[in-house]
Amino acid sequence: MTIYQNLIAGEWVGSDATKNINPSNTNEVVGLYADGSTEDTKNAIAAAKAAFPAWSRSGIWERHVILKKAGDEIMARKDELGALLAREEGKTLPEAIGETIRASQIFEFFAGEALRLAGEVVPSVRPNIGVEITRDPLGVIGIITPWNFPIAIPAWKIAPALCYGNTVVFKPAELVPGCSWAIVDILHRAGLPKGVLNLVMGKGSVVGQAMLDSPDVTGITFTGSTGTGRRVAAASIEHNRKFQLEMGGKNPMVVLDDADLTVAVEAAANSGFFSTGQRCTASSRLIVTEGIHDRFVAALTEKLNTLVVDNAMKPGTHIGPVVDEKQLKTDTDYIEIGRKEGAKLAFGGELITRETPGFYLQPTLFTEATNQMRISREEIFGPVVSVIRVKDYDDALATANDTPFGLSAGIATTSLKHATHFKRNSEAGMVMVNLPTAGVDFHVPFGGRKGSSYGPREQGKYAAEFYTSVKTAYTLA
Ligand code: ADP
Repeated sequence: MTIYQNLIAGEWVGSDATKNINPSNTNEVVGLYADGSTEDTKNAIAAAKAAFPAWSRSGIWERHVILKKAGDEIMARKDELGALLAREEGKTLPEAIGETIRASQIFEFFAGEALRLAGEVVPSVRPNIGVEITRDPLGVIGIITPWNFPIAIPAWKIAPALCYGNTVVFKPAELVPGCSWAIVDILHRAGLPKGVLNLVMGKGSVVGQAMLDSPDVTGITFTGSTGTGRRVAAASIEHNRKFQLEMGGKNPMVVLDDADLTVAVEAAANSGFFSTGQRCTASSRLIVTEGIHDRFVAALTEKLNTLVVDNAMKPGTHIGPVVDEKQLKTDTDYIEIGRKEGAKLAFGGELITRETPGFYLQPTLFTEATNQMRISREEIFGPVVSVIRVKDYDDALATANDTPFGLSAGIATTSLKHATHFKRNSEAGMVMVNLPTAGVDFHVPFGGRKGSSYGPREQGKYAAEFYTSVKTAYTLA
């Protein structure tokens, strides 16, 4: 089998490789991907540092052309790349193709942004002096990504990093190197100069750690677990480095008595169970007022009965497998914890077997949960959702905000008054009215508050806040 190698200083290198396994069929090896070392990472950082002066001064047209070419190729290959994504991560083929289209759109967006770089010219408060405010690139950006969006998250970090004139060392998650390799290959062939984008696949504890330890990495953008996020923060503070973290969520979806039941059930089923519940914006707390509670639970259970869990590549599958054995164990451990805490298992909870050997778990719904239970406070990251019964809107809002996280929050209601109040008073970074908590646009800010995020927002023009540093220059006229 061919080894998909790391890209360091414009050369494909690496002979040690790790198997990329399909979670829908663990007999299937998706590919062999290089396992980078500390030395590889140091070489990649050195290459990115050497490439920075020229790339940061490259014209905006060169950056536009390369980003646009990448976006176009990803779109032209959406079915093939979507299939690779579904095979390595386990989300369904339509979800995977959708994510691939989104990655293409992100490159197209930042291709446009490259042509819109601008500063401000303002008068000084002193006579005969002019003031210019501009944005400089940061330097070498370390990009560390998780496994749950194998093409969109790399895209939304790589595209702005390059657009604003930075060079990159990119470390994808161990479980999903395939899509990352593909987009780096596309960008490389699109004409990026040597060393501008370096790919080092491998272990977090080796490659990731070497990035954290390097004084030459001037910014790190990270999406992943809270624990690793804290390590990124601590190491970055030591190096006086700018960093941005996207971590967990325990996103609430409020359902009020006046909700349209069909809208509420569709939003809850999507939020909780699509992409196997493996989205940081997934809703795992359904906070439901008394008047609609029983009807809502009955309708949601009926909906869950219709959802097909199977091989991600199979037409008709609604929910693919869990990503790997470790995550499956986390999910089943939490199901056990929920039972012991006294929540009622209303649906699912069992492992299932399918034609192909994979990590298949039934969508699982607990009712009679309280907001103090561990299943309501800790991120599970699987298709496991709890229903929490509350008295009224005020109780629902307080319960929604009573969490260490603050990424996304949803409400299902037909009341303008409650929707407006919720938008204003939710402590989450993103609020959804009559929509799933997951599923966001690519051209507007993405990010959370409290324990979910740290640093400037990602995506859209707000991305510039992280990938650039502001300079104020004064000139005597
Ligand atoms: P998850 O539990 O979702 O895999 P992690 O935080 O472990 O979340 O992983 C997110 C990313 O962080 C992955 O690319 C992983 O390899 C990387 N990573 C893990 N440990 C470290 C570390 N010590 N230093 C830097 N990156 C790490």
